[in-house]
Amino acid sequence: MAKKIIVQKYGGSSVANTERIINVAKRVASYKSKGYDVVVVVSALGDTTDELLELASKITKSPPERELDMLISTGEQISVALLAMALHKFGKEAISFTGAQVGIITDSSHTKARIIDVNAKKIRQELAKGKIVVVAGFQGVNMDQEITTLGRGGSDLTAVALAKVLGAGVCEIYTDVDGVYTADPRLVKNAKKLDKVSYEEMLELASLGSQVLQARSVEVASKFNIPLHIRSSFSDKEGTLITKEVKKMEDVLVSGVTLNKTESKVTVCDVPDKPGIAARIFTELAKANVNIDMIIQNVSRTGYTDVSFTVVAGDFNKTLKLMKRVVKEIGAADVIFDKDIAKVSVVGIGMRSHSGVAATMFKTLAAGKINIEMISTSEIKISCVVRKKKGEEAVKTLHKAFNLGR
Ligand code: ADP
Ligand code: ASP
Ligand code: MG
Repeated sequence: MAKKIIVQKYGGSSVANTERIINVAKRVASYKSKGYDVVVVVSALGDTTDELLELASKITKSPPERELDMLISTGEQISVALLAMALHKFGKEAISFTGAQVGIITDSSHTKARIIDVNAKKIRQELAKGKIVVVAGFQGVNMDQEITTLGRGGSDLTAVALAKVLGAGVCEIYTDVDGVYTADPRLVKNAKKLDKVSYEEMLELASLGSQVLQARSVEVASKFNIPLHIRSSFSDKEGTLITKEVKKMEDVLVSGVTLNKTESKVTVCDVPDKPGIAARIFTELAKANVNIDMIIQNVSRTGYTDVSFTVVAGDFNKTLKLMKRVVKEIGAADVIFDKDIAKVSVVGIGMRSHSGVAATMFKTLAAGKINIEMISTSEIKISCVVRKKKGEEAVKTLHKAFNLGR
């Protein structure tokens, strides 16, 4: 009978130094000894990816994205080799691979590539030989053999994709906190660990700034119904299970508060108020693969209007360059930007069936003298843009107002 396959992913903080890599190797080895076939996905050591990006930025402000991928994919290659060595030290047969070697095929969107296919033949062959397979997270290869990366936090996605193709029963995501909390536990000291979170809520939490999981990995897990277990690599405690919604989850009004300080606001000023202009602006952005978040268009009284939207940090330079050209072409006056913003959000599937969350959120921010600059809502979340320096305070007061603490 085939053995049970388990996929485990260890994040950068869990492999930040050789001592921690040895700690991870011990845990992986223990699962192998329990009889599992183990596939391990690892991120780059500690802050390696940030350090590599910093190096690139010292050379040029807009590096070619292909070369960025060549650079930042190197981080994970270091960790897989070191972990495989550590496993050998504990008498376990292990073999490390890059994304390309195990057939993680992606499209060609450098720095945020999408996985098209995974050919897990090689992994299966090595598992059949009794080996532990260690795969570099965050990377793949396109049809032309070009190395690509899967967006920040992309090792989570590698793990979920492998869990899917290998038919693993569960995908464990090991990190430096015990699970998913009602707010970032580094920011809100009495934040509470959640035992269970639905895919839908987790997708919002992740998209809105809860760094603990990459949003796209949650999307894929949800699509294929792969349970995710987020837990600490420093303890044996049960973490948070991410699964399909169960009835009881609806009883909770708000499950978390998030903060995102990495977006910037871009405003195209004095845009002629006529049909087709918004389409023009956002088509150009879509063609350049820029991810847009909130959009606001002011009411026009003079035949001209302002269009503001937010973009993630990684797309900022590209957006500004593009908008400078578009402004001229559409006869707008100017493009200005604001990097001093933060987005705070409250998330909960209970919002579908309960009203009053928005009112409480706005009242709480007002009481804290925190001005709201932009608002966006969906069925299960409300987000407000505030000044960046007020962001952390906003999260703390909202966490308290919704009674989320321990
Ligand atoms: P890894 O290196 O394991 O991928 P990350 O740094 O990407 O880890 O994610 C873990 C971090 O996410 C935690 O250290 C924590 O500070 C942060 N975080 C933000 N929001 C949350 C939340 N709601 N629950 C848990 N952790 C969160
Ligand atoms: N090392 C990559 C990053 O820092 C991928 C990951 O950690 O998941 O974004
Ligand atoms: Mg991460």
